[in-house]
Amino acid sequence: MRFIRSIKFRLTIWYVVALVGLLLLFGIMAYFMLSRSLYQSLDDSLETRATQLQNSLQVNDNTIIFDNDGEAGFEGQPGELILLYGTDGTMLQRLGPAVDADDVDPLVDQALAGRTSLVASETADGNRVRLYTAPVNEDSSVVGAIVVGRSPAGVKDVLRTFAAVLGFTGLVTVGLAGIGGLFMASRVLKPVDRMTQTAQAIGESDLSRRIEVHSDDELGRLASTLNQMMERLGRAMDRQRQFTADASHELRTPLSIIEAESTLALRKERTEDDYRKSLESISQETAYMSAMIDKLLFLARADAGKEQLNLEEVDVTEILDQLASDIAALCQEKGLQFHIGPLEKIVVRGDRIRLKQLFSNLLENAVRYTPRGGSMSVSAVSQGKTAMIAVKDTGVGIPKEALPHIFERFYRADKARSRADGGAGLGLSICQHIAEVHGGRIEVESRVGEGSTFSVFLPLVQSI
Ligand code: ADP
Repeated sequence: MRFIRSIKFRLTIWYVVALVGLLLLFGIMAYFMLSRSLYQSLDDSLETRATQLQNSLQVNDNTIIFDNDGEAGFEGQPGELILLYGTDGTMLQRLGPAVDADDVDPLVDQALAGRTSLVASETADGNRVRLYTAPVNEDSSVVGAIVVGRSPAGVKDVLRTFAAVLGFTGLVTVGLAGIGGLFMASRVLKPVDRMTQTAQAIGESDLSRRIEVHSDDELGRLASTLNQMMERLGRAMDRQRQFTADASHELRTPLSIIEAESTLALRKERTEDDYRKSLESISQETAYMSAMIDKLLFLARADAGKEQLNLEEVDVTEILDQLASDIAALCQEKGLQFHIGPLEKIVVRGDRIRLKQLFSNLLENAVRYTPRGGSMSVSAVSQGKTAMIAVKDTGVGIPKEALPHIFERFYRADKARSRADGGAGLGLSICQHIAEVHGGRIEVESRVGEGSTFSVFLPLVQSI
């Protein structure tokens, strides 16, 4: 059943059906052409024979006599029928088997009227015969009629043999072509079987295996495409695994702290101050976990494409102004200088809350990674059809080798510092996602010890 449904079987069947059709067409055409040509030469031979016989006739006083001494001689050949008629339509001579008078008489009448004719008939003993009738002329007047007949048995024999040979060679050809076709189809489709087996093995084990590519044809390209797909799937699964491992690890640290703090606090009677410190630490870790879970949820929704954007025309300058007062307070607390400007009026089409989250993350990072005494600034300018919002700091900077990774989830260039400052390495991946869903991008320039500049590019609705 599986074999019958297989492509190689169906291909072979189609191939054989097409071949049988072609062979039948060719056979029928060849048979009819041969048959026509054989009957034509039989008729030609009858005509020649009739002319030959006419030459051996002698006509005296409107009666025909046979000149047996003539060149050709009025002698029948084996299987031949010769009839000679006078002007009144009476048979004068017959050589060979008798034929039905009803068949011959109309032909004789036609011959006496000066016309030749050819007809298929039967002898009295039931054998088929082909008859040729012609007038016998003497001095341009008809003096009788001659009928020559020959059996078409020879022609029929040749045609029968021809049909048998055609049928036999046709059957052998179709049989061989069927076997050959099946063999070829199996050979051509073998790589598909191999690909199926590899794909099955991959599904059961791991995604690191690849389908072997042997050619550059359609199947080779299919194998390459499947390999690329598995490569992408493998990377996606690795990222997923890494993400889960990182998330668990990140959540385990605050949980361990909470557990340790509470166990320690409960072990014996403590002072109010000790309890306060423990609870503060627990509260801090809980806030950290809660913020991280929020970020994780945001990213999970973004990955699932379930994120709802409330698109409207958003005044970015207004958002930056709002954030600036909070950041200025933070900067003052940390002893940083904070500059705003130049700040052009920038309007983009986007989700106000998400854009606020994007700039707030960048500004908080600038505060977090700039040591006391440093400075930071924010500016917004339009460049053609794009808005560029830059957050610049004179902070610790990012090492060159870390730059390509800072937008990855849970990536932190300096793990100890970031964790101590409450960072989980998710902020920039969220920023990048928000920029991308708004049709924009983020670029970063940084030097260790000198500072960093994060530039957000967004498509502009209008700039005044
Ligand atoms: P985190 O929560 O750790 O800040 P982010 O995704 O926001 O995570 O940033 C990823 C990493 O990029 C940080 O751990 C830090 O090493 C680096 N980074 C981000 N912003 C700055 C900055 N303004 N200056 C220096 N390093 C930065």
